[in-house]
Amino acid sequence: MALIVQKYGGTSVGSPERIKNLARRVARYKAMGHQIVVVVSAMSGETNRLIALAKEVMPEPDPRELDVMVSTGEQVTIGLTSMALMELGLKAKSYTGAQVRIVTDSAFTKARILSIDEANMRKDLEDGNVVVVAGFQGVDEQGNITTLGRGGSDTTGVALAAALQADECQIYTDVDGVYTTDPRVVPEARRLKSITFEEMLELASQGSKVLQIRSVEFAGKYKVKLRVLSSFEEDGEGTLITFEESDNKDSDNMEQPIISGIAFNRDEAKITVLGVPDKPGIAYQILGPVADANIDVDMIIQNVGADGSTDFTFTVHKNEMAKALGILKGVQAHIGAREIKGDDKIAKVSVVGVGMRSHVGIASQMFRTLAEEGINIGMISTSEIKIAVVIDEKYMELAVRVLHKAFELDGI
Ligand code: ASP
Ligand code: MG
Repeated sequence: MALIVQKYGGTSVGSPERIKNLARRVARYKAMGHQIVVVVSAMSGETNRLIALAKEVMPEPDPRELDVMVSTGEQVTIGLTSMALMELGLKAKSYTGAQVRIVTDSAFTKARILSIDEANMRKDLEDGNVVVVAGFQGVDEQGNITTLGRGGSDTTGVALAAALQADECQIYTDVDGVYTTDPRVVPEARRLKSITFEEMLELASQGSKVLQIRSVEFAGKYKVKLRVLSSFEEDGEGTLITFEESDNKDSDNMEQPIISGIAFNRDEAKITVLGVPDKPGIAYQILGPVADANIDVDMIIQNVGADGSTDFTFTVHKNEMAKALGILKGVQAHIGAREIKGDDKIAKVSVVGVGMRSHVGIASQMFRTLAEEGINIGMISTSEIKIAVVIDEKYMELAVRVLHKAFELDGI
């Protein structure tokens, strides 16, 4: 007997039929003797609909009130899911995040989980219930409803698996696993049987939307066994996220691929602060106020100074470009910057793979491939297992296709 957390995304609960289908899968697992916790997202499109609705009333919605309303999407699906399970003769009990007591900080719309009280869930499981929990939401110490950021149900699933010390966390989605890249961009992309946790973390942070990055961080921290599977297939094996490099890759593959996947991201914007004095403290004076406003910064580049001045470039989420520009304009005189510019027509493309550690020349191969297509590189950042470049948004798909081919990821 195992304790399994199964998380179902929006498309997997997108209609009453699909919810019934989900219930049948849960019933099969119950029949094998397992204890099951189900975490559900809102029905597909529902969260977007609720956000749009809020914006019709208040163009920049108040974050606390936004969380109160967008969290209702998941509240609908937990009730429906429990009912579908009951219709199959199973015992089921639903919980909102607050009812579980998934306690978060008070950063509305992007709250972080602080603690989970798993006692009630455990008791329900022992009484033979399927426990159904609303993804994406929690409650702060003051009792305010919070949400965990878009895609946050993944994090709920993994966090519950960690708190309950589950044997496996299964993420059911509309794709049958993690791919070498998005098959909508590269039809030759193929499913990976397994991927290391480190690679998954890079892919998620570089824009692969299969799993929310926080869920991967959580899984790594608490060593949660994580598997991504299709909710539309009976018995696919999906992609297992492994901790050991040696368990990784297809065992029949003698030669391990150097690159596991290519991620891309259109969500970032570039901010350039031109002509700042080249002296100690300048990076802090620029990024300090941005961080104080709770704006996440991704890539950062500072040019070599010339004539005592330098340029400073960094990326933020597109949605936060205007806010970041406003903040910097406010301190422009104080910093002594000549000009501050924003550009949201950029894309980031990254190649990721633990095999990079033992191979040289990956960066030059990547840059050559892009150069051959006449694609200009605006920014570069690297880690031990990743090389990411910022390019003009209009070349993004081309870049992903040629890199997928150049690194021999096209279907075999
Ligand atoms: N319903 C939320 C969203 O659309 C959370 C999730 O689906 O994971 O972002
Ligand atoms: Mg999702």
